[in-house]
Amino acid sequence: MTEVKLDRIGKSYGAVEAVQQFDLTIREGEFLVLLGPSGCGKSTTLRMIAGLESITRGDLLIGGDRMNDVDPKDRGVAMVFQNYALYPHKSVFDNMAMALKLQKVPAAEIQDRVGRTAELLGLTEYLDRKPAALSGGQRQRVAIGRAIVRTPKVFLFDEPLSNLDAKLRVKMRLELQELHARLKATSVYVTHDQVEAMTLADRIVIMNGGVVAQVGTPREVYDNPADEFVAGFIGSPAMNFLDLTRDDTGGWRSTCGSMALPQLPVNTGQRHQVRLGVRPEHIEVMPGGAGAGEMTYPARVLLDELLGADALLNLGIGEARLLARVGGADHPVQGDTLDICLNSSQLHVFDIESGKALR
Ligand code: ADP
Repeated sequence: MTEVKLDRIGKSYGAVEAVQQFDLTIREGEFLVLLGPSGCGKSTTLRMIAGLESITRGDLLIGGDRMNDVDPKDRGVAMVFQNYALYPHKSVFDNMAMALKLQKVPAAEIQDRVGRTAELLGLTEYLDRKPAALSGGQRQRVAIGRAIVRTPKVFLFDEPLSNLDAKLRVKMRLELQELHARLKATSVYVTHDQVEAMTLADRIVIMNGGVVAQVGTPREVYDNPADEFVAGFIGSPAMNFLDLTRDDTGGWRSTCGSMALPQLPVNTGQRHQVRLGVRPEHIEVMPGGAGAGEMTYPARVLLDELLGADALLNLGIGEARLLARVGGADHPVQGDTLDICLNSSQLHVFDIESGKALR
């Protein structure tokens, strides 16, 4: 178990700054997830830790030692790739044993370590098979096993579940959680899938255009997104956004005119415009005419989508459009009129220019 310190590391490809000033200490035993859309610099960051990419600026320390110029194989890291990267002509056993053989580990110890790892991953009965004769999930387990037998100080995962179908992804996600609970090894995991990030991470780093937008626990990034980008990226369906303009009384009105909000739960300073954010699951839906609270608005269901346990309602409040998530049983349907209620403790407010959350 080892701490990994990224001391303002950066990577440029010519004029392109793929990663800027990444500054973070990954704690011993922590499961850290790098999350963000394609091209935001997640893989580049991971590959700099692995030593597969040179570091343009800053220092990388693993277990307190500077690693910038250390060979990948001497960093004490093991990486699991999206495409498994198994040797097709070698058996599962040989794929897992390969690195140990190269390290000249005695044969009896290799048997023992591969055997125990195969048992841990449920691969014992497949040790003689070639990768082609395995399912996608089993192949990825072999790739994970190959990393585990090396007993690395740090595990690096590059979108390891992306090639699996949805059902298998959920299963492998649970397996990874169990594995981490047992091994407690420092892990850095790259994904663009926010559900994977929320379920696996001790802390999530959300990246946007090569820059760290926020670092926090899943709860923190969901409850208190630092900016509009994080707010829109975490949560599914995504948060609703609505522009507000200050009215003559000092209260706020949706810029399209149809919703009035007497006050906002944050300090808006001198701003005349802000952007409101509200998650679909935080819009309370009531029968029409039932509520008379301050932030209760009559709405019409423009479209309803049943997901099963839940339903999504596309709502029109005058010109304003909001997506609400409600229970799937007896949910309101297209054409229904109802009241919606916003709870001020669940509203997010952002600066229009910078996108930063106002507190
Ligand atoms: P992610 O993993 O988040 O999808 P990457 O780390 O792969 O993103 O890429 C970050 C940025 O760096 C992207 O703009 C990408 O085009 C650029 N990039 C990555 N590798 C290279 C390379 N070898 N040469 C030039 N630009 C690259």
